[in-house]
Amino acid sequence: MKLLFLIVAYLVAVTLPLILSAWVGGPPRQFHQELASGLGILAFSMVLAEFILSGRFKAVSNGVGLDVTMRFHQIMARTALVFALLHPFLYQGTPSGGQRPWDPTRALTITTDFSVLSTGIAAFLLLPSLALLAIGRTQLDFKYETWRLLHGIGALLIAVLLLHHTVYAGRYGSQPVMSWVWLAMTGVAVGSLLTVYLLVPLLQKARPWRVTSTVRLTPKQWEVTVEPDGHRGLDYKAGQFVWLNVGHSAFSMKENPFSICSAPAAGPELSFMIKELGDFTRTLGQIKSGTVAYVDGPYGNLSVDGRAEPGVALIAGGVGLAPLLGILRQMRLTGDSREVKLIYGNRVIDQIAYREELSEEDVVYVLSEPPESWHGEVGFIDAALIDRVFSEKEVSEWVFVMCGPAIMMDIVEDHLIKRGTPSHRILSERFNYD
Ligand SMILES: Cc1cc2nc3c(=O)[nH]c(=O)nc-3n(C[C@H](O)[C@H](O)[C@H](O)COP(=O)(O)OP(=O)(O)OC[C@H]3O[C@@H](n4cnc5c(N)ncnc54)[C@H](O)[C@@H]3O)c2cc1C
Repeated sequence: MKLLFLIVAYLVAVTLPLILSAWVGGPPRQFHQELASGLGILAFSMVLAEFILSGRFKAVSNGVGLDVTMRFHQIMARTALVFALLHPFLYQGTPSGGQRPWDPTRALTITTDFSVLSTGIAAFLLLPSLALLAIGRTQLDFKYETWRLLHGIGALLIAVLLLHHTVYAGRYGSQPVMSWVWLAMTGVAVGSLLTVYLLVPLLQKARPWRVTSTVRLTPKQWEVTVEPDGHRGLDYKAGQFVWLNVGHSAFSMKENPFSICSAPAAGPELSFMIKELGDFTRTLGQIKSGTVAYVDGPYGNLSVDGRAEPGVALIAGGVGLAPLLGILRQMRLTGDSREVKLIYGNRVIDQIAYREELSEEDVVYVLSEPPESWHGEVGFIDAALIDRVFSEKEVSEWVFVMCGPAIMMDIVEDHLIKRGTPSHRILSERFNYD
């Protein structure tokens, strides 16, 4: 339902300038000229909508999930790019240059005035560069924060260039009512950036957190715990995640998304199970107790609160245990009567975290490289394992919550759907949406 609402809201927002332009009208032109203008208009409104689809607005991403939001952001950016690239070429054959006596308002000729075309040309070149940088991000030797800054500045520049080009070169955009519409829409997009990079950090500054402990769980996994410093903490649901900034200014870009592995019922402290991966996560051992931290959240929809299914199946690969542990802990602390089974897969035995705490639970451990003495499951979390662990009744009646490597989630999800689990009973969180 929420997804449907968001799709309708998106379609209304991006087609509004197109509809208003048609309503403003003008002398009739050939189809390819109208198509050229239409694609340009759509490309600009889609670029502006990308700011709201950045994953930092709970009204959007909490309903459908961050991975769905980011995938939509990526697909729409590529579609807008295709529209923008086609836009100038479709004007071929249209009279251009100076004003003609038969066209005093220049509604039927396209301008060759370089001052108004130059902003369109600059955006035309910048847009593919921004998309290529995003697509090739992981292959490029950029720090994530540097890429994020460049992506934000690039997007802002493109929005301003397109506003100038649309209002001064556009047949429709130059009509006063449309100029105001474009100005308002660009204002919302720029305002969304200011919200994320200025307003949210300002609010965070007033609600600092302090690191209380950093504990090594396994050779490459840590548990970091923070407590609110002078405020009541965070109102969240077990399984959600936050953007965490440890030891930097609230305005710094050095923040990373992490699932909360503690339970709301346990109190205001937040714990995170974190795997060493890159520049921040490899320095976790150096964090001192008392270090200031900032928390932006909660985000995400990986929650079983209030659901009616009789059982909860938790399927975790490696550090994907984090949100599922939060859910399990919350269920235990609140005396939840639903049945729970956890499948927890790792490569080697040393990677298994929280073994003592989980000893009370119905856990199926899976190792792909087990030691000789291993009595648990061997291999990967796949269709055959799901069939061994869950009965027909459980597959069709329980809610399945999973988090782990993309390949594991794809295999399990496809298999569950094949076996008849409705998709609304399969919840997942991806730690990587490239
Ligand atoms: C919703 C969500 C929940 C997550 N929960 C956990 C968790 O509970 N435990 C855990 O260990 N990991 C979790 N991750 C992954 C974690 O965010 C990355 O491993 C971490 O950010 C790496 O940071 P780094 O500076 O060490 O590495 P870097 O080398 O800076 O980054 C490595 C990769 O991590 C991702 N990344 C880094 N910074 C960000 C950012 N600000 N926003 C989005 N992606 C980023 C990028 O794909 C990047 O290529 C989660 C990710 C997401 C999206």
